[in-house]
Amino acid sequence: MTSIVNEIHAKTVVIATQNEKKKKEIAEILKNIPGILLRGVEDFPFLPEVEEDGNSFRENAIKKAATIARACNTWAMADDSGLEIDALNGRPGIYSCRYTGPNATDEKNIEKVLSELRGVPKERRTARFICSIALASPYELFFVVEGRCEGFIIEEPRGKGGFGYDPIFYVPDYNHTFAELNPLTKNSISHRAKALDQFKEQIIPLIRRF
Ligand code: IMP
Repeated sequence: MTSIVNEIHAKTVVIATQNEKKKKEIAEILKNIPGILLRGVEDFPFLPEVEEDGNSFRENAIKKAATIARACNTWAMADDSGLEIDALNGRPGIYSCRYTGPNATDEKNIEKVLSELRGVPKERRTARFICSIALASPYELFFVVEGRCEGFIIEEPRGKGGFGYDPIFYVPDYNHTFAELNPLTKNSISHRAKALDQFKEQIIPLIRRF
């Protein structure tokens, strides 16, 4: 009974991502916030495709959250994230997902990054994951937050966990790549975890207000 009452009063928030692994990470981190009912885009058929044509993670996150909130007529959160490598002038950046074109795969993207970095010494292989998360209603943008995680790009992929560029992203404090860390550890130190911490801080008072 209590849970039905809680559900009736809960605010529905759609996680605007098609990426199942990302959705799982987000849902895991947000699962204990009272007053929120998380939904995936699969619960809303006929949603529009959102073209990620902004110039920054922030712009893309805002566009996705606002479009999905209007289409679902409820609150929506969207993230845009990627890998910024200093020796590549910030590439792949906002093109992280599609770095090798429309048929990109994680393996092809990693191969391209490693070949572009061939010969670059360890100390110049600095990089960071960045994640922007926006929360919007059908009528307004509530806020945008950003999290970062600093590391290095190693020369050969290591580890089987995670997704995307995880096998080549090395975190010195943990002496492991993201793909070697257990998911709980990754979820506590990642760019997305840091953005989601701020997200939690900002959404809780909003939920109380609405
Ligand atoms: P998005 O889905 O447009 O945000 O694209 C993000 C892309 O950046 C993903 O497809 C990955 O290639 C990369 N990326 C973002 N976050 C991570 C992460 O935590 N690990 C590995 N790659 C990531």
